[in-house]
Amino acid sequence: MTPVDLLDLDSLLDDEERQIRSVVRRLVDDRVRPHVADWYERGHVPARELAREFGRLGLLGMHLTGYGCAGSTAVAYGLACLELEAGDSGVRSLVSVQGSLAMYAIWRYGSEEQKQRWLPPMATGEAIGCFGLTEPDHGSDPASMATRARRDGDDWLLHGGKMWITNAPVADVAVIWARAEEGVRGFAVPLDSPGVSVREIRRKMSLRASLTGEIALDDVRLPADALLPGAAGLKAPLSCLTEARHGIVWGALGAARDCLETTLAYAGTRTQFGRPLAGFQLTQAKLADMAVEWQKGFLLALHLGRLADAGKLRPEQVSVGKLNNVREALAIARQCRTILGANGVSGEYPIMRHANNLESVLTYEGTSEIHQLVIGQRLTGLNAFA
Ligand SMILES: Cc1cc2nc3c(=O)[nH]c(=O)nc-3n(C[C@H](O)[C@H](O)[C@H](O)COP(=O)(O)OP(=O)(O)OC[C@H]3O[C@@H](n4cnc5c(N)ncnc54)[C@H](O)[C@@H]3O)c2cc1C
Repeated sequence: MTPVDLLDLDSLLDDEERQIRSVVRRLVDDRVRPHVADWYERGHVPARELAREFGRLGLLGMHLTGYGCAGSTAVAYGLACLELEAGDSGVRSLVSVQGSLAMYAIWRYGSEEQKQRWLPPMATGEAIGCFGLTEPDHGSDPASMATRARRDGDDWLLHGGKMWITNAPVADVAVIWARAEEGVRGFAVPLDSPGVSVREIRRKMSLRASLTGEIALDDVRLPADALLPGAAGLKAPLSCLTEARHGIVWGALGAARDCLETTLAYAGTRTQFGRPLAGFQLTQAKLADMAVEWQKGFLLALHLGRLADAGKLRPEQVSVGKLNNVREALAIARQCRTILGANGVSGEYPIMRHANNLESVLTYEGTSEIHQLVIGQRLTGLNAFA
């Protein structure tokens, strides 16, 4: 329960959902909150250690079934994302990329052997995965990707490069998307394969408690069974992104909630002109507007989660959620920052960290503009992408 839940939205969850949420919240309180400001400042996160702890709790590939995955509902997974991101968007990204992008791609499109090989250790956090779609010159338009896959006898040769890849610096396996003669194909690439090199991207001003890398592929020779047999065409990576975006719809609310709770507590105790900041009408107007937006966002996330659990969630509906909830979460973080005054820019409080993180969340998994275009296309029937 949070003080911003004026509408009693909690009552829309069942006991199991509330229980999962409490477990993840406790984990975040114990293992993330005490350290995250430091991780953020240093630009480093103990990703392996965290992955094992998240694995022990069943958070990795949590909404997938079999192969050691927990098989939870989409709503329970969403609530877990919300709690993780209340800690830090980078920590939630570690879990999202592992479960919704790398594991999901293998789970949905991999061969039985690939699933047996990769999913159980990824579910426990013994193996870490990443997802390479974006390239230095191709972001919003992955259809023009330059990374190539060509057959050489029974083998495949991969050549090109992927950029801005979450988890890459610690990952054991990358799901790499490359253009082959017949179209876009996906490959499970062990990152210790000859010809692969990974460089960590430093100096990020956002998502600093998350490891991001560039993957160079220099004629990487892969056996035939590295190909994900079920993935043919760009639809495959896009379906993985739809999975992950659903987690973001929830996750962004976590960052916003942490900002709101911090701000409510601060405004109640900080006194200016002889009264607490919370007692000024202008402050209350800000708080009221933010609480209203947060609750609308939660209703939206819950509706999309229930649609996902009913097997009815469509990609453009996820775009509605990602566009709205990340945009509003960022607006909430920025507004909260004003209420904390100078302390709003201090790393002693989580506000600026969340705001900076949400800048990345606004951009990855489809920028706001791309989601507007997806929704626009659905509304008008016209493709305005190019
Ligand atoms: C911290 C971080 C982690 C990431 N992790 C991953 C990952 O794990 N795997 C992965 O594959 N990628 C990852 N990404 C990459 C991310 O998905 C891309 O940054 C994103 O898709 C946007 O691509 P771009 O940065 O190349 O921007 P561009 O595509 O160059 O876009 C720049 C701007 O132009 C706008 N724009 C582009 N096309 C249009 C259009 N047709 N109409 C109107 N506006 C348009 C965009 O909305 C944006 O505002 C990550 C990014 C960040 C920042």
